[in-house]
Amino acid sequence: MNLDLKEINRCVRCGTCRSVCPVFEESGWESANTRGRILLTRGLARGLKADSEVLDSLNTCTTCGICTDNCPAGVNPPQLIEAARRDLVGQGIVTREQAALSRNIFESGNTFGDPGDRLAWLRDRSLLREKADCVYFVGCMNSYRRSDTAARTFALLSRFGATLLPAEQCCGSPLVRTGFDAHRFVDENLRQIKGTGANTVITGCAGCYTTLKNNYSADLEVLSIPEFLAEHIFELDLEPLDITVTYHDPCHLGRHNKIYEQPRRVIEAVCNLKEMKASGKDARCCGGGGGVRSGYKDLSLRMAKRRLQDVPEGVDYIVTSCPLCIRNLSDAGAGEKAIDLADLVASAIR
Ligand code: SF4
Ligand code: SF4
Repeated sequence: MNLDLKEINRCVRCGTCRSVCPVFEESGWESANTRGRILLTRGLARGLKADSEVLDSLNTCTTCGICTDNCPAGVNPPQLIEAARRDLVGQGIVTREQAALSRNIFESGNTFGDPGDRLAWLRDRSLLREKADCVYFVGCMNSYRRSDTAARTFALLSRFGATLLPAEQCCGSPLVRTGFDAHRFVDENLRQIKGTGANTVITGCAGCYTTLKNNYSADLEVLSIPEFLAEHIFELDLEPLDITVTYHDPCHLGRHNKIYEQPRRVIEAVCNLKEMKASGKDARCCGGGGGVRSGYKDLSLRMAKRRLQDVPEGVDYIVTSCPLCIRNLSDAGAGEKAIDLADLVASAIR
């Protein structure tokens, strides 16, 4: 049993979280807000049978963490919700979409079930050095769906000696978030990372980042692209751009890992920054995380549309550092205006 009743009982049912949960904002359905989900986890811990409504409630949490930041009782709802998902998966109780996503990953090593070469975007294979101090962990989305960003990010990082894993696998994030065991992928990626001799892994995906940081080896230094670039931005020969952008904080970089200041430092070295209406720790979720985009696409896109209402007037781009956020914001109407931080920096290099 993954469910910790002591932790669940810390919830005093005050409902503060109702006012911030992005899912409740769209559905208005009590059991699809944080408090309702906590009540369901309590029920499950006491033997409640999970029907499809219970599954929908638990699986529509994006794990955005804004409830955690606002809970006066110190409850960490996404942690409890993920534990409930693990319990249910352990009993074989999953939705069709959860089963399809996990099947894709277990069969192909990526979230798309794509049998193609993960490094198809890499034209110059001589850059794939066997030994290096740091590794660029690309992630499924940038490898298969945003490979131009992968190529530009690697071009930046290889200036600093980074290499790639010869046969990178999904980091395991979608499995961990939706309740499945990801140790097979963790072990395989770790084996390859160790093989390069690197102690540092750099990634441009917020989902990969939080998983590499929390589910891999404690000996590994894990850096996000904003952290790495903030450290090295003045070593790049930049020509500042005469544009204004806004920054969308991915939940798993911002609230979950407190990376707020570094992406802003990078942007301000390149161009003008105008903040979103809700930003930093108050940033609204794009709706794409926690398996919600793959399981509940309409709901996910409604959240992304609402996030776009926070974009200030007069900006040229919405910059972020997570390909899942980019996909959801693009599909919800931002189109080509949603770009990666690494793409912004690459376009400013002389
Ligand atoms: S804010 Fe915290 S204590 Fe209040 S209902 Fe939500 S989870 Fe429970
Ligand atoms: S993590 Fe986000 S989506 Fe999940 S219950 Fe909390 S506020 Fe709602």
